[in-house]
Amino acid sequence: MARITLDHIRHAYGPNPQSDKDYALREVDHEWNDGGAYALLGPSGCGKTTLLNIISGLLQPSHGRILFDGKDVTNLATQARNIAQVFQFPVIYDTMTVYDNLAFPLRNRGVAEPEVDRRVRDMLEVIDLAPMARRKAQGLTADQKQKISLGRGLVRNDVNAILFDEPLTVIDPHMKWVLRSQLKRLHKQFGFTMVYVTHDQTEALTFADKVVVMYEGEIVQIGTPTELFERPSHTFVGYFIGSPGMNVIPAKLDGNRVTVGAETLSLDYVPKAAAGAKTELGIRPEFIRIGREGMPVTINRVEDIGRQKIVRADFAGQPISIVVTEDAEIPAEARVTFDPTAINIYANSWRVGREG
Ligand code: ATP
Repeated sequence: MARITLDHIRHAYGPNPQSDKDYALREVDHEWNDGGAYALLGPSGCGKTTLLNIISGLLQPSHGRILFDGKDVTNLATQARNIAQVFQFPVIYDTMTVYDNLAFPLRNRGVAEPEVDRRVRDMLEVIDLAPMARRKAQGLTADQKQKISLGRGLVRNDVNAILFDEPLTVIDPHMKWVLRSQLKRLHKQFGFTMVYVTHDQTEALTFADKVVVMYEGEIVQIGTPTELFERPSHTFVGYFIGSPGMNVIPAKLDGNRVTVGAETLSLDYVPKAAAGAKTELGIRPEFIRIGREGMPVTINRVEDIGRQKIVRADFAGQPISIVVTEDAEIPAEARVTFDPTAINIYANSWRVGREG
């Protein structure tokens, strides 16, 4: 397995790109650890597949280099990069048996037959298709075929990385959960470097150690699920991760004082925002308390979502969401307090930390 270095990668599909908006990838400059499980998460069109195809070699970046363990592979074709890929739809040989489909990538590389047999049998157990080993693939259901694709990706142990492009789209919801857990277990066991593209936050957060959030051709944060939840680097991450997403409220800064509408809060630090920047306060719905103390809000509606309720309200002229437990009392003259440790401050959409 390999460490993957994305060295100042930019990509434009059209000729003569002039400005940032002509680039499908604006600038990606990161190093991903050997053995890491990364999920590329973001909305449709943000550049996930473009980045994955640059890693796999299906696409040459317009600028920058890609390195596996320090070796420049930018100009190498997919086959020479020694990676396994699993796509949205199954890529298998319909006329071969399930067993032979799994054995194919190994036989192709000259692995000795007893070793092929051992690995294929192990993989058949993992993907739960052992009873069907001798069946031709063509009669199988879409999710059984996709399990073969996953198995073909995982059966080799000599790859630099395994790349997954929304591999569970055709799988039914229960099986999705099972396969995701199996992937996670296999990752722990074998330490593959995995890159997994998805637009589904649950899939990303349960699969990956590090989630790479993309927005408009840029990586806006790479973090653990907890970091993305507690300290979103960009307002987009706050909004995209969580359900409902983070409340982002226009705010004025003056030293450690933050003013939203007629309300002023004091922080225990001075946020480092450049003069003239658009400043906002971010607070997740889970960290707002409703009661009789604090700042006034107008409640518009309460949605029951099982063990919790989502309160939709207006605060300082802005719509906000608040998550409370199902038995929480919501007074008629409701007021709110924000957990001070859960407040994030943003300048031009990027989170700002302490001064100094
Ligand atoms: P999705 O989840 O819909 O697959 P994505 O995040 O994978 O989206 P990309 O497919 O990488 O996004 O697309 C990024 C941008 O590049 C989009 O604006 C898309 O329209 C554009 N794009 C993608 N492929 C091509 C292509 N072959 N030619 C021109 N533009 C393209």
